[in-house]
Amino acid sequence: ITLSQDVQGQNETLSVTLKKVEDFLQPFRLSMEKLREVSARLRKDFIRGLSKRRHSRPPVKMLPTFVRSTPDGTERGDFLALDLGGTNLRVFHVRVEDQENVRIVNRKTDPIPTEKKKGTGNQLFDFIAASLADFLKSSSLTDQTLPLGFTFSFPCDQKDIDKCILVRWTKGFDCSGVEGEDVVKLLWEAIKRNKPHPLPALSSNISSIDMVNDTVGTMMSCAFQDQSCEIGMIVGTGTNACYMEEMKNVKRMEGEDGRMCINTEWGGFGDNGSLRDIQTEFDLELDRGSPNQGENQFEKMISGMYLGEVVRLVLVKLAQEKLLFGGELSEDLLTQDKFKTKYISQIEEDTTGLEQAWEILLKLGLPASPEDCEIVRMVCSTISTRSAHLCAAALATIVNRIRTNRGLDHLRTTVGVDGTVYKKHPKFSQRLRDAVRILAPKCEISFLDSEDDSGKGAAMVTAVVPRQPKGSWL
Ligand code: BGC
Ligand code: MG
Repeated sequence: ITLSQDVQGQNETLSVTLKKVEDFLQPFRLSMEKLREVSARLRKDFIRGLSKRRHSRPPVKMLPTFVRSTPDGTERGDFLALDLGGTNLRVFHVRVEDQENVRIVNRKTDPIPTEKKKGTGNQLFDFIAASLADFLKSSSLTDQTLPLGFTFSFPCDQKDIDKCILVRWTKGFDCSGVEGEDVVKLLWEAIKRNKPHPLPALSSNISSIDMVNDTVGTMMSCAFQDQSCEIGMIVGTGTNACYMEEMKNVKRMEGEDGRMCINTEWGGFGDNGSLRDIQTEFDLELDRGSPNQGENQFEKMISGMYLGEVVRLVLVKLAQEKLLFGGELSEDLLTQDKFKTKYISQIEEDTTGLEQAWEILLKLGLPASPEDCEIVRMVCSTISTRSAHLCAAALATIVNRIRTNRGLDHLRTTVGVDGTVYKKHPKFSQRLRDAVRILAPKCEISFLDSEDDSGKGAAMVTAVVPRQPKGSWL
């Protein structure tokens, strides 16, 4: 056979392979039609979540946050903020001078050791109190008494701004003795114990503790700068969003007037099986291998804690089907969580992506051919696009709801956004925007990237809250 025939033969095998991979990835590609359906299902779950339930456990919780207004730009003062989210514990001293000058006077970041994420609640809260005590000392704040905003990025049933029952852990946290307990109480107790770092006055340094979900913090800090911001969204380790809902629609709470920020906890969408038609065998496998099996199905298709793992499971299957790596597998590829979500961002970079793919795969013990690299990139972009599109469907549900709530033909609004997937992935935000435009054609949405917002936002909530009328539960 001649050389050119041989090359042609190779190309044919290649295109057959690519075609097979394409078919294989099909279940991850959701049509706009399907996304519209998903958005409509979420809309129903929003309504269920807001309803006056007593015994049922709706998959989308729609938690009242006791934040009744966004900042009006006149808030001032000094605040402490704590942020416990995915990977780090952060402490801030925030000074709000005026609308242009929200200053982080001082900050500290401590990685949360894995054993603290899975130990006892007391160990976790002692660690937080110790970090706070250290911070006060090193920032020379030990002679002051300041209000503290606590950004706690987990689903909580709030009874008030300072009474906050953890519904369940997410994102790999699993501390005993915290679910079903009041997080504010646990923090106060730890502050009073002040165990590892005796600082006699720690409890007298804190005047109050206000609880804030990270979505709420993001919305509040963006709203301080742009008053049209009434939605906060996170696509990071986990995913979630909050928005300003009409009180009359919050059937669980007394009062018909005004608005309240609702923490949707949209990560739980699908927990009753409502997304079964779009979940692939890989989503189900990932769920089986996760510590919170059966929970947060929507989050598991979207957020940074899981995207890399979905890609890994797909790559393993493709190799087993002999469509990748000449059918070879490596120990790393067979190990849970070895394919990091940040690899997806690197591999999808326009100019350097394929080269990075080659390097990453080599590190995982997989010498890859140029075709392998192309295929891996295709897998990454398929999975991250699905994530962006599902997020878009959910965001469309929110903006469409705000628009109809207010009886408007056209809504202009701003979403404050944070999270590593949104900020670090080279194409995520564009894909999200493009899809929302199609799914919510009557809404014009501006996206505001947030910056240090867990700190600033918690301060903002603390600044806004005292002016608010108290609400009570039905
Ligand atoms: C939590 C939310 C949080 C989101 C983003 C989810 O796992 O349940 O409360 O807002 O992650 O951090
Ligand atoms: Mg009401």
